[in-house]
Amino acid sequence: MRATQVVIDLVALRHNLACARAAAPDSRILAAIKANGYGHGMLRVARALEDADGFGVACLAEAIQLREAGISQPIVLLEGFFGADELEAIARHRVIPAIHNMTQLELLEQARLPQPLAVWLKVDSGMHRLGFPLAQAQEAWRRLAACPGVAEVVGCMTHLANADNLDDRFTVEQITAFRQHTAGLPGQRSIANSAALLGWPDSHTDWVRPGIMLYGVSPLLGGRGAQHGLRPVMTLRSELIAVTRLRRGDAVGYGGAFVCPEDMTVGVVAAGYGDGYPRHVANGVPVLVNGRRAPLVGRVSMDMLTVDLRGQPDARPGDAVVLWGEGLPVEEIAEHAGTIPYELLCRVMPRVDAVESGA
Ligand SMILES: *Cc1c(COP(=O)(O)O)cnc(C)c1O
Repeated sequence: MRATQVVIDLVALRHNLACARAAAPDSRILAAIKANGYGHGMLRVARALEDADGFGVACLAEAIQLREAGISQPIVLLEGFFGADELEAIARHRVIPAIHNMTQLELLEQARLPQPLAVWLKVDSGMHRLGFPLAQAQEAWRRLAACPGVAEVVGCMTHLANADNLDDRFTVEQITAFRQHTAGLPGQRSIANSAALLGWPDSHTDWVRPGIMLYGVSPLLGGRGAQHGLRPVMTLRSELIAVTRLRRGDAVGYGGAFVCPEDMTVGVVAAGYGDGYPRHVANGVPVLVNGRRAPLVGRVSMDMLTVDLRGQPDARPGDAVVLWGEGLPVEEIAEHAGTIPYELLCRVMPRVDAVESGA
């Protein structure tokens, strides 16, 4: 059997939730589990995080999947609904949409629903992606509260654009503006993603909304999960399937992108971009072979990649390989690939089986 798997460490996941609680002890936690739980398996993550106070997802289908699996906590649609045809199911499944623009508000005002909904009001405090402009927050609130389809406006939320950079004062501006423009409105407040939860305590309000940190990954630029006491949840692992002795001048893989500078041993790992390993990594990105770092050489193929085994001449086919996770931070691989850890985690391909550890 092909050995390529992701191991999902549920003990680490719960530990990371406890870290989020410790960092924001007075806030309730809305765990972001959209995009299949950042690639970790949404239902698995929701079940393991039974202590979370609620879950944040990107669409109704995700919410219904959670309800049908018996998840009973509040579920928030972070982008609200995409069409009025979703409203009845949203109400029936007790899902809470974030209402972020005038189109959604008007559809809600016109809807005739068998049961009214709870909603969040989403305000744009400067990210300029979703949310009512600050100057319209009070009016949007009044209209929502007056809407027959709305049972309760839970509160106001906003999202931060630059919280991952602790030197960027824009976060302070966003927090201040949000507080000023929502002052006096009843209900709860929610501002913080993982980066704000760990880096900007002023953003801790009634609810915090951590995602990436729950999976053990640092949300801060250049950071590593371990610096915050977090533990990696996903380990992408595989095996060596060939170990080859090559001569000086031999070229390895497609395009002959790596040429052996001396006689050397090269290992072939059964993992490639068809599994979600990034093809565009810089040469030399580390791979763990038997727990020790070996540099990747040559181009990543669909099903395989090659590593320089000069440091481990005794390596054999069948030896254990880790592409990221335990012992090799995904943050480091993302830096080599010119992307962010979020992307690597959520694009692990369906052919990669997941096994749970620490259940
Ligand atoms: C995804 C998401 C989060 C979580 O962000 P992280 O950076 O993963 O902590 C929080 N809030 C909203 C609105 C989101 O869409």
